[in-house]
Amino acid sequence: MKWEIDMDSEFQRIFTEAGQTTLECSCGREHIAMHGMDNWDFDEGESTPEEMRADWEEQAKTNDMLVLDYEYDGFEMVELGGNYWVAGCECRGWDSAVNLLVNNRRKIAEFLIATSKEIKRVQAYEDTMDILKDEYKPKPYTNCP
Ligand SMILES: [Zn+2]
Repeated sequence: MKWEIDMDSEFQRIFTEAGQTTLECSCGREHIAMHGMDNWDFDEGESTPEEMRADWEEQAKTNDMLVLDYEYDGFEMVELGGNYWVAGCECRGWDSAVNLLVNNRRKIAEFLIATSKEIKRVQAYEDTMDILKDEYKPKPYTNCP
C-alpha cells in the first residue's frame, strides 16, 4: 500500500511549534529572518534595522553558522526530545526522529492501543467508584427516636 501522506510534512505539521524571527537550531546555526525585522520594536539609541542588517550581513560573510533569510518573517521550530530544530534548516536534524517513528510505527501503535485500553480501564474504575460513592451516603447517627 502506498503512503497517501508526505511523512516529512506530517511530522513537521504535528511537531512544529510557534515561529520566531531569530532562532538557533540544535545544530548550532543561528537563523535570522531579515524580512521579519520590519515588525520589531526599536528604541531610540539602539541600532537601526538597517544597521543590524548590515552587521549581520557582514558577519555572515565569514560565519557559516549564521543563516540569513530574506523570504520569511520568521521561522517555525520542530521540537522533540529537548531538541529544537529550525524548520527548513539544512541540517534536517529531525530526520532521525522521523525515521525512528516511521520505522517503529507498529510498536508505537501497539503501545498507544495498550495505553488507551489501560486509560479506559482506569477511567471505568474511577467512574464506578464515583457512582458508588455518590449513592452511598450514610445517614448521620442520632439518638433521637
Ligand atoms: Zn539545523
